[in-house]
Amino acid sequence: MEAPVTRTATQREAAATAAIAVDDVHFSYGKRPAVRGISFEVAPGEVLGFLGPNGAGKSTTIKMLIGQYRPERGSIRVLGHDVVRERAVVQSRLGVCFEEKNLYPTMSGVEHLRFFGRLHGLRKVDAEGLLERVGLATRGRDRVGGYSKGMRQRLMMARALVNDPDVLVLDEPSDGLDPVSAQTIRGVIQEQAARGAAVLLTTHDMWEADALADRVAFINDGRIYAIDKPETLKLAHGKRSVRVRMRRGGEVEERVIEWSGASSAAALAEATRDGELLTVHTEEATLEAVFIQMTGRGLA
Ligand code: ATP
Repeated sequence: MEAPVTRTATQREAAATAAIAVDDVHFSYGKRPAVRGISFEVAPGEVLGFLGPNGAGKSTTIKMLIGQYRPERGSIRVLGHDVVRERAVVQSRLGVCFEEKNLYPTMSGVEHLRFFGRLHGLRKVDAEGLLERVGLATRGRDRVGGYSKGMRQRLMMARALVNDPDVLVLDEPSDGLDPVSAQTIRGVIQEQAARGAAVLLTTHDMWEADALADRVAFINDGRIYAIDKPETLKLAHGKRSVRVRMRRGGEVEERVIEWSGASSAAALAEATRDGELLTVHTEEATLEAVFIQMTGRGLA
C-alpha cells in the first residue's frame, strides 16, 4: 500500500493553464471528513477519470466543483474562475451530468432542452441536433415519463451540452445502462474531448476508465493515491505475464511466464522450444489490480 500523492512545484504551475484546477480541497459532513486534501488539474481536451469505490469522495469533490458544496479549505478554479466567488461565470461554461433524477415526467425531451437553454439565458437551442446525437431523435416529442433509464440518461447527457460547455463534469454517466446507451454516452464524451472540452468523469468501472480516460486518478478514503495515464499505472505497478500454449507429443501444455526483465525472454525461448507453438498471449495487470496494490482496497 502506498501513501497518497503530494504535489510538486511543477504541478502547481500546470494549474495556471488548466481548465479545471483543484488545489488541496477538504470537505466534511458534520465531523466526518469525506475529502481530505485533494488536488488535480484537467487540461482542455483531456478526459480525467476519477476512479474509486463507493464512498471514496468522488461525488463530494464534484459537488464542490459545480458549486453545490463549498470547500472547507482549498480552492477550485474552472477556466481560471473561482467556483465560489465567480459561480455564475463558471456555471455558464460548465456542462453537468449526474444521475437521471432531475427530469420532469410530463415534459418531452425537446421541451427539457429548450427549458434548460432558457435557464442558461440562451435564446436558441438546437434541441433536435442534440437529441439526434444521443440517439433520441425519434423520441424527442415524447414525454420523458415514458423513457427508459438509458434514454433518460442520454437526455441528461444532451442537456449537459446545451450551452456548448468548455468543461464537462460527469458523475457515473453510464452506470447501469444497456450497452447501446453506454456506448452512445462514451462516444459523446470522446467527441466533446476532441473538440477541446475538459472532461472530469467519475466511475467505479475500471474498463470505462481505461477506455475513455487520458489520465486516471485513484481516489480512496477522500484522497488521491495516484494520478497518471492508465498505461503508465499498469506498467509501473502491475505484473505482466505471457501465457504460452504448446503441443508436444500430442499433449497440449500451457505455461505462464511472469514478465519482469531480461530473464523473461530466456524463459519464453525455453518454454517454446521443441514442439508446436499454438498460442501466445500477453496479459497485463488491470487498473483494479493496480488500485488494490496502491490503496489496499478493491473497487467493488
Ligand atoms: P458513490 O460512488 O457511492 O457515490 P463517492 O466516491 O461518490 O461514492 P461520496 O458520495 O463523495 O463518495 O461520499 C464520501 C463520504 O461521504 C462517504 O463516507 C459517504 O458516506 C459520505 N457522505 C456522502 N454524502 C453524504 C451526506 N449527504 N451526508 C453525510 N455523509 C455523506
